[in-house]
Amino acid sequence: MYIISACLLGENCKYNGRNNRCQWVVDFAKNHSYVAVCPETQAGLPAPRPPAEIAGDRVFDSKGRDLTRQFERGAEESYQLAKAAAREKDEAIEGAILKAKSPSCGRDIVYDGTFSDKLTNGDGYLVRLLKRDTIDVITEKEKIEND
Ligand code: SF4
Repeated sequence: MYIISACLLGENCKYNGRNNRCQWVVDFAKNHSYVAVCPETQAGLPAPRPPAEIAGDRVFDSKGRDLTRQFERGAEESYQLAKAAAREKDEAIEGAILKAKSPSCGRDIVYDGTFSDKLTNGDGYLVRLLKRDTIDVITEKEKIEND
């Protein structure tokens, strides 16, 4: 079973109330077992909402609100939901396909906390949990070939 960012599948859970639909991810989901998650929705954040970025060891939205606890909770609950979905189908979690650069779903590179489109090294909150458990994470920018 794969964990997939819900916004890549067309769910309007992105901060601006829209989505990041990605055709190859949608096609992949048609013939693979998956669970769609949105950690920020899971944390109770609405869509639309102000954008949020990681700054050091915390997350703030563009209005300066500290959302660190919500992001931690959303990531943890999303991961638990994914594990429960995999258990229910008696499957392992094979990997994750997540939205690049997001403070929840981004891998290796995220926005830098200045809300100026600048990037820095780092992982989103869900990705940190997956990496801890050595689950492979790719973003929509990398395609799974020959699968
Ligand atoms: S938290 Fe992840 S799934 Fe939700 S909108 Fe942001 S990038 Fe997409």
